Amino acid sequence: GLSLLVVTALIMVLAACGNSGEGKSSGGKNGTIGIAMPSKTLERWVSDGANMKKEFEDIGYGVDLQYAEDVVENQVSQIENMITKGVKVIVIAPIDGESLTDVLDKASEANIDVIAYDRLIKKSKHVSFYATFDNFKVGELQANYIVDKLGLKDDKGPFNIELFGGSPDDNNAYFFYDGAMSVLQPYIDSGKLVVRSGQTSMDKIATMRWDGATAQARMDNLLSANYADATVDAVLAPNDAISIGVISSLKGVGYGSANKPMPILTGQDAELASVKSIIAGEQTSTVFKDTRALAKKVVTMVQSIMKGEEAEVNDTTTYDNGEKVVPSYLLEPVIVDKDNYKKILVDSGYYTEDQLK
Ligand code: BGC
Repeated sequence: GLSLLVVTALIMVLAACGNSGEGKSSGGKNGTIGIAMPSKTLERWVSDGANMKKEFEDIGYGVDLQYAEDVVENQVSQIENMITKGVKVIVIAPIDGESLTDVLDKASEANIDVIAYDRLIKKSKHVSFYATFDNFKVGELQANYIVDKLGLKDDKGPFNIELFGGSPDDNNAYFFYDGAMSVLQPYIDSGKLVVRSGQTSMDKIATMRWDGATAQARMDNLLSANYADATVDAVLAPNDAISIGVISSLKGVGYGSANKPMPILTGQDAELASVKSIIAGEQTSTVFKDTRALAKKVVTMVQSIMKGEEAEVNDTTTYDNGEKVVPSYLLEPVIVDKDNYKKILVDSGYYTEDQLK
């Protein structure tokens, strides 16, 4: 009688736990770490979460890993739940960098440290550390790739280029843009690069939530309004999702054929579809950011925090979030194209040869 009731109740509780999270491991001996990721729309965030979960579990932590489907309110309530549960540290890749001020106040009241993951969290004092890649350099790499491939340093040109930016609520988008423009602006000024649409500022070229379909629609408009009797020679796409959208648009008006080659087209993240597209000769390059290394870095940071020590950082001047300059650790991004993808992506074990077929 009673024992059956207890067993039934236990099963119900266990079932409820299993359903409620993306990946919850029961609190490890060292406590639980909360991980709040933006969405599963990109492979990178899926790997980021999985990599961190594994690393933390290997050293005795439980993990509460949540994805918010790119909805700010979801992310806020997921973080609130983590605070209620009493996690030790929360690692957050914010959807909107400016929407977490209140919830981070609550984390701070509960003495929970917060680490900003990949994207800066703004407008809060309660961000202990930031682990990311050199985001300005990502933009520089993309733009230098365009400059090299067009032969602008050999005084070739003029060439037509169109520019795309990332999401306006993501601090990274401005770093990518600034990095790219530090390289491209002189060529635009000298007339060697021509932006026929005239759209060069972030407010004109941003792509809300990095959405590929939004980028595709904008590219459709750019092509029909400005390229009826001209060819676009290069497109600055800040990440692979946007690049894939731009490619669909280009193909729709006949690019990618013998007499109308694809423009030089950049990207970021080394998403599987984009690496395949590079091998197939459609997208031209991507920027590889080794998410395994970023996950490892964050685990080391958490270990330092738990020991009451300062985490190792390599940048204490760049990332001012409006309330403080957040001590940061920046990893190196790497440009990848047809010539080096085997070395960078396959030899490093990030992808197998089979995955790229
Ligand atoms: C990340 C990129 C990613 C983009 C869209 C940025 O903050 O740094 O790697 O492509 O968000 O998710």
